[in-house]
Amino acid sequence: MKKNDFQRIMEMLSFVLRCPVCSYKYNLERTKIIETKEEGQNEAAILVHSDCAQCKSSVVFSIIISGPEIFSVGMITDLTGSDTAKFSNAQPLSADEVLEMHNFVRAFDGDLVKVLS
Ligand SMILES: [Zn+2]
Repeated sequence: MKKNDFQRIMEMLSFVLRCPVCSYKYNLERTKIIETKEEGQNEAAILVHSDCAQCKSSVVFSIIISGPEIFSVGMITDLTGSDTAKFSNAQPLSADEVLEMHNFVRAFDGDLVKVLS
């Protein structure tokens, strides 16, 4: 699938994708393709981030194209468009890092100034 094909699919989807919070119709200017993955000639997966122009919420859509069928799942997120690019190649948190944060919060005395200085 060519990049132009993905763009055409996005233009088509912008007519049907609606904000899950307020049902406002998305426009293409506020929609960004984060990642594309091709699986065979007529199958592809697209990850899209969109900001609602009306209620300002952000949604990540996972769109699966399988021949003539298109499936879409939307998830409300607090990631901005630039956050998605920043974190797309980040490593997942390890169990040790989660444990370290837990211990830090448990011992935290509430003095934020002391921690940040
Ligand atoms: Zn909305």
